Amino acid sequence: MVLGTIADGVTRSVEGVTQAVSGAFFEPVIRLGVTGLSRAGKTVFITSLVANLMDRGRMPQLVAAANGAIKTAYLQPQPDDTVPRFDYEAHLAALTAKAPHWPESTRTVSELRLSLRVQPSGLFGALQGPRTVHLDIVDYPGEWLLDLALMDKTYESWSAETLSRISARPVAAAFLADVAATDATAKFEEPAAKSLSASFTAYLNAAREAGFSDCTPGRFILPGELAGSPVLTFAPMAKPAKSGRGTMYREMDRRFEAYKKQVVQPFFRDHFSRIDRQVVLVDALGAIHKGPQAVEDLRHAMSDILGAFRPGRNAFLTQLFMGKRVEKILFCATKADHLHHRQHPRLTAIMEALVRDARDRADFAGAVTSAMSIASLRATVEETLDHNGAKLDCVRGALLTTGKQAALYPGELPDDPAHLLNPARAGAMDWLDADYQIMNFAPASLTLRPGDGPPHIRLDKATEFLIGDRLR
Ligand code: GDP
Repeated sequence: MVLGTIADGVTRSVEGVTQAVSGAFFEPVIRLGVTGLSRAGKTVFITSLVANLMDRGRMPQLVAAANGAIKTAYLQPQPDDTVPRFDYEAHLAALTAKAPHWPESTRTVSELRLSLRVQPSGLFGALQGPRTVHLDIVDYPGEWLLDLALMDKTYESWSAETLSRISARPVAAAFLADVAATDATAKFEEPAAKSLSASFTAYLNAAREAGFSDCTPGRFILPGELAGSPVLTFAPMAKPAKSGRGTMYREMDRRFEAYKKQVVQPFFRDHFSRIDRQVVLVDALGAIHKGPQAVEDLRHAMSDILGAFRPGRNAFLTQLFMGKRVEKILFCATKADHLHHRQHPRLTAIMEALVRDARDRADFAGAVTSAMSIASLRATVEETLDHNGAKLDCVRGALLTTGKQAALYPGELPDDPAHLLNPARAGAMDWLDADYQIMNFAPASLTLRPGDGPPHIRLDKATEFLIGDRLR
């Protein structure tokens, strides 16, 4: 029966055939990448996902959970010994403490293996018996993907582009003054390089804080274990007419090349190129709250980030992927619990519009993509209030600062995303006729029934899209 099915030529990859024949001996692995810019919600997403896969009472839209195909889920040692383990237990403890608090955010790449015992459905499945599917979750900063663009650039071209792009930004004023005061032709001195690079890093952090997303090189903001190393001690400088050996400019150039070779390349080779499924988390609400510039900047950053999912675009990536590709990409607007559910479709539409260009191209490259609005950990409840005779759809939660309960009316997102994206593209400084509020809520205190994971919005639907097909 088994061999007959295979011989009938049901479209199966070589890997699929091996799985069917070797049955229990072969344990399939799904490598799920979780990325997004800093504070997009990666840590909370992974923590809640794992907790909700272990206790599946709140996962009705994950078919294999709803129909009982997933028998158990348990954590196992991960396969990669040199990658930090995602600190699931500490993060879950933060979220489920008596006085719950948000866990520490992603600063570097980390990994976690969750193994699922699955009883496949249908006759074929019944013959096979239960099997184990390993879900390797790889958490990494989206900022690191932005570095891919550096691979095509020389120090000269990167410096020229960076200096011109930031020339009008008030947050860059101090660095621009520092770089203007540094003689690129002077003999290289480590303290001078250190001080210029510290000034550049301070600018990048300030720019990030002000809502700009084009803050590369990515490791300057999230250095991981490389903090303070020479490979992170450089900054853009305009090319002088002459730059002999041993000058500031030459050494900066050398370090830029070392950054590409020793930081960017290994990340793409060891982590990125092995991912099968990818979720990209986007804090669209946060950007809308910050204003049109932040939205426009997020759109640019998303386009750059998603460029990484089109291997054809970049010779270096094409070589790494060798024909393999990410099969599915999900774009999630996170923290949707800041909005009444009536507004969720609008948030999804805005996020879709934000990533449209990039998504069309990823579709073209063969990946299946989808977009949704989610809350990995629901911190609010909905409430409709009377306000001067009008009904206002609000959300209520405990404020992060005081712990006091507060109701938030976040403002009405437009039906048509163009009403936000067009002024952003046109360089508007403020939203014309609307104000979008956001509040920092603390995670709600939880009393979980046995079998239930933490409350969320559409985490089950997101999981079904990402891995549901591999659990049948
Ligand atoms: P990371 O930098 O991508 O790892 O981001 P985190 O997962 O640490 O999330 C950053 C912050 O966003 C958290 O500290 C929370 O304040 C907030 N956040 C993340 N997910 C949610 C969510 O589902 N609901 C709410 N209300 N806030 C969230």
